[in-house]
Amino acid sequence: MSEGLVARIESYGVYDGPGIRTVVFLKGCPLRCQWCSSPETQHRGQEYYYGEDSSKGELVGRYMSVEEVVEVVKQDMTFYNQSGGGVTLSGGEVLSQAKFSAEILKRCQEEYIHTAIETSGYGSWGNFKQVLEFTDLVLFDIKHLDSNKHLEVTGVENTWIIDNLRRAAQLNKEMIIRIPVIPGVNDSKENISQTAQLAQELGIKEVHLLAYHSLGREKYARLDREYLLENLESPSDEKMNYLKKLVESKGIKAQIGG
Ligand code: SF4
Repeated sequence: MSEGLVARIESYGVYDGPGIRTVVFLKGCPLRCQWCSSPETQHRGQEYYYGEDSSKGELVGRYMSVEEVVEVVKQDMTFYNQSGGGVTLSGGEVLSQAKFSAEILKRCQEEYIHTAIETSGYGSWGNFKQVLEFTDLVLFDIKHLDSNKHLEVTGVENTWIIDNLRRAAQLNKEMIIRIPVIPGVNDSKENISQTAQLAQELGIKEVHLLAYHSLGREKYARLDREYLLENLESPSDEKMNYLKKLVESKGIKAQIGG
């Protein structure tokens, strides 16, 4: 069994999949989304995270075996059974540690624990397929349908992502598209409507709209990095409701928040 780099593990999560969940945040992501609220998970290796006293750093990233992770996940089995919850692998990017992720998910399924992944979809199809085999629910983030704009705000084009979305949809996996709604970046009527249209074409029945928030802002300073969206406000409730209706008009179930 392999070993992987884990940023942190959070219990009692209620957003990343059904019921009460344990969320395993893996380290390493090839994207650099300007709004990322977990910048401490982006770098592939361990790194220091500084507090107010900049001489003291907290090391982010712990090498763990598959069994170590599964042991932590199993501690909340009672909650999963009562709530219909389970485990969610998140990031960073799950596909960046595909073998490790697949092994954790496989072991969890063997324990009858519901498995979900949250992914940007950015990775080789081989890696994605390996992970999908042991995934019950895919939370697939779509940030922008225009590849040039995607490149500008995340650092990578979306070709691989959309291709993987199409292929995954053909496997008839339970899938939810999640759109982080970033004002002025991807919240246009055109982009949201086209994303809902794509979901409809692919037979994906549900879209979640996640309103931008600036909760990750202070983490950038702690990592000695610049936060590019310094003055950006969260989208209004009116705007979120408008976008929700837009998605629903395509016959897709829509939800604000995830
Ligand atoms: S894909 Fe997720 S973890 Fe990676 S940079 Fe974007 S928001 Fe952050």
